[in-house]
Amino acid sequence: MIPLKHQGNIINNESLSQPPKRYTRRKFIGVGLLGTLGLTGGYFAIDNALQKDNKSRQKLIRPNYIPTPNKWPNNEVTVAWLGHASFLINFFGTRILIDPALNSHIGITPIGDLTIGPSRYIAPALSSDEVGPIDLVLVSHAHTDHFDYPTLRKLQSPNTFVVTAKNTLPLWNGMKFQSIEEIHWQESKSLAGVTVKAIEGQHWGARIPWKKGMEANSLLLSKNGINIFFGADTGYTKLIQQQLSGVSIDLAIMGIGAYSPKSFETRHATPEQAWKMAEEISAKWIIPMHWGSFNLSREPMEEPIARFRQVASGQIEKVAIQETGVTWTLPR
Ligand SMILES: [Zn+2]
Ligand SMILES: [Zn+2]
Repeated sequence: MIPLKHQGNIINNESLSQPPKRYTRRKFIGVGLLGTLGLTGGYFAIDNALQKDNKSRQKLIRPNYIPTPNKWPNNEVTVAWLGHASFLINFFGTRILIDPALNSHIGITPIGDLTIGPSRYIAPALSSDEVGPIDLVLVSHAHTDHFDYPTLRKLQSPNTFVVTAKNTLPLWNGMKFQSIEEIHWQESKSLAGVTVKAIEGQHWGARIPWKKGMEANSLLLSKNGINIFFGADTGYTKLIQQQLSGVSIDLAIMGIGAYSPKSFETRHATPEQAWKMAEEISAKWIIPMHWGSFNLSREPMEEPIARFRQVASGQIEKVAIQETGVTWTLPR
């Protein structure tokens, strides 16, 4: 989710005094209003309203690849990128869905599932009806691009466990799952055969600025001696390396977008910083995410992956997935 001013969640005065050139006057006024509103989701509301008359708005792109999870074997680790930060994983038979935002929009939901916020550029590779049965839903933090009410409501099931960040349990009120448990940094839970550990990154978790205390997790998933690190949203930090010291990381899923303007960078790593963090934890495989689906920041849509490919160019074979909808199996 777009960071306004990270620590205080108040819009950065510097960016207000220097509007980026590609912002129209109306859009700029909209961003200014956001500061007045002080609403994390306000950006989306205003931005969406202003986009309605944006004639250059792109048509929804269909992904080139569609996962077929019903055919995935239960004795492998199979991973599909559904778009943005949403991943479907069959982890040796445990079916995991991470940060599912599979709706046409993300943003605030003032009435029911009506969502006011940015629309997608690329359709999700699977809808919530197509992901199949899920054992474990993991939501890293409460920002609207990771915690999407319409998607989560559709996923309700008495067979599904949920893990959510500290102080976010009230957001799940009224939803019915087998269990919904908060997990705080350094805590671990074993659910559906997978151990989930919350890792502290460099982000923040407030869905609404004045609601302090909601945390943001990165996640370590472990089963059968295989470890997957889901970076979620984080700026560059040595904290991750410190917490994962001694852990052999098979796959690191790292956010590479929403780093512009420069003030966003402390909470959303650049492609180069994401690569560096993956290197620091000696990840065998890397998947870049958090780019290409929603326009949440100022960098051009394709810039994060172009920069990531550049920094990975000597070891591009380590990059497991580069495109929405692609399915990858961890080599034995
Ligand atoms: Zn976030
Ligand atoms: Zn995000």
